[in-house]
Amino acid sequence: MKTAQQNLLLKGTGVSPGIIIGKAFLFVPDDIEIPVITLAGKAEINGEIERFKQALARSRESLRAVKKEVERKKQKEARYIIDAQLLILEDKLLVDNIIKTIREKGVDAASAVKETVRKLSRGFDDVSDEYLKERKTDLDYIGERIVRNILGTKRHDLSTIREPSIIVAHDLSPADTAHLDTSVVIGFVTNTGGKTSHTAIMARALEIPSVVGLEKVTKEVKNGDVIIIDGAIGVVIVRPTAETLRSYSEKKQMYEQLKKELFQYKDLPAETPDGFHIRLLANVELVEEVSAILEHGAEGIGLYRTEFLYLNRKELPSEDEQFNIYKKVIKTIAPYPVTIRTLDLGGDKFLSHLDLVEEMNPVLGLRAIRLCLKEVGIFKTQLRALLRASAFGELKMLFPMISGMQEIYQIKGILDEIKHDLTVSGIPFNPHVQIGIMIEIPSAATIADMLAREVDFFSIGTNDLIQYTLAIDRVNEHVSYLYNPLHPSVIRLIKTVIESAHSNGIEVVMCGEMAGEPLYLPILLGLGIDELSMNPLCILKIKKVMRSLGYRQCRDFVKTIDHLKTAEEIEAFMRLEMKKRFPAALEMTEA
Ligand code: PEP
Ligand code: MG
Repeated sequence: MKTAQQNLLLKGTGVSPGIIIGKAFLFVPDDIEIPVITLAGKAEINGEIERFKQALARSRESLRAVKKEVERKKQKEARYIIDAQLLILEDKLLVDNIIKTIREKGVDAASAVKETVRKLSRGFDDVSDEYLKERKTDLDYIGERIVRNILGTKRHDLSTIREPSIIVAHDLSPADTAHLDTSVVIGFVTNTGGKTSHTAIMARALEIPSVVGLEKVTKEVKNGDVIIIDGAIGVVIVRPTAETLRSYSEKKQMYEQLKKELFQYKDLPAETPDGFHIRLLANVELVEEVSAILEHGAEGIGLYRTEFLYLNRKELPSEDEQFNIYKKVIKTIAPYPVTIRTLDLGGDKFLSHLDLVEEMNPVLGLRAIRLCLKEVGIFKTQLRALLRASAFGELKMLFPMISGMQEIYQIKGILDEIKHDLTVSGIPFNPHVQIGIMIEIPSAATIADMLAREVDFFSIGTNDLIQYTLAIDRVNEHVSYLYNPLHPSVIRLIKTVIESAHSNGIEVVMCGEMAGEPLYLPILLGLGIDELSMNPLCILKIKKVMRSLGYRQCRDFVKTIDHLKTAEEIEAFMRLEMKKRFPAALEMTEA
């Protein structure tokens, strides 16, 4: 017999951070064998249709019971997913097709369900869209639930787990996770899924380290195998050797130690010992993440990416729904400010139900503000919701992918129109709400002086600014070696943007990934950045680095860098200088 490979390293998408070592609990509901039974006549066919309808009713009842359970546990995210699954269960197309299959093919109910679901689900096979992929999962899940109710078999139940375990599954539905005991379930790993899939949302809500999208993890892992999860970088190691175990146990300890140590910085100001202070803010994608950011020492939200409100669902969010969410976010974070960015769809973030044309180069196509200015109805709904929410705290509005002045004129025209409507209707809003633009296209960076006269602040989006400046697809691993924030052209553009902003009296925040990397902090401080907004998990680390730097030396670094010609030279210079002057800060670049 082949012995299982030791130390097998699998790479997926890390969706909930933390390092965990534990035993695998393989959760693979057995594939139900369904022999196709040919029915003898009309009476049998009617009998099977009846059997199907009863199973459908039982499925509905049991799923509603799960919904009650998650409501009792206040698992809001799970409730939304179950609501979507209940809609599929009641979908006329699905039900009618199953009955039609029983009637026309004269086969038993269970086979008819399996065949119909397989057929409908095949339509999703080639889609890359996250929303549609999740609907396929829901459809398969609902099909399995009905079949089990027809046959009277039960799906495994995670509530029986008694010892600390890492769940290894093809996928997990909220119905699976509703009953589990979070004191014994210490991690999730799954074959399918991405950042916004059900398992990911649940893992983050339950604060359980998790890696998804591992493709074949259920085939590679056996029940009881020891596995390691590194949820921050999306790595899973199956059957680690003694040496790997030792090194990961150390890493886990260091991670926990660092977490504890960094926690001491939570309430300390983000300032250098020579008295230079900037604000550290959080980037947020989901409303469930909002309350936790203060625990990470954030002084507000610098980037709320609203596109996630539009993904993973069938209808567009209404004005009231958006208003309530924005209001809640603002009130939760008050008295700190909240910057909410308008819809930035397109590129790598798609919306399945907007009937948009296929583009050759979507990253250069109808995305973000361009899409909003074309689909003005969608844009206006969001702007109204935002303006209404501005009455409840310090809201700043941010517009993505601005390429020139014309877009600002258009946005302002639309905003004025909406403000006028709200005033006429007596609806309160802040007439002086600040408006800012993302500087993430080189054209905007080069005319920053003109743009600065039109808006209240800039937000530099380095993820896109680097992509467009260096002509490197930010998600293409083949050219990722060229993706370097220290490229002199990138530094020059950032410098231009900050200088233009300051000479026109406005502030600059940076909200791309570059903002959360300790090695870049001395340069950004030296260039005069006013605020940094980042993944909340980076904030305390950056605060610690900030408190061990000297502002004056950072200004000097920037002057020297001006004469260096390659990213490599700049990096080597920074490392050398930090080693000499700020060894504590340099240490954090590797932590
Ligand atoms: C950026 O481009 O740097 C940015 C913050 O926006 P996103 O990553 O959402 O494109
Ligand atoms: Mg961007």
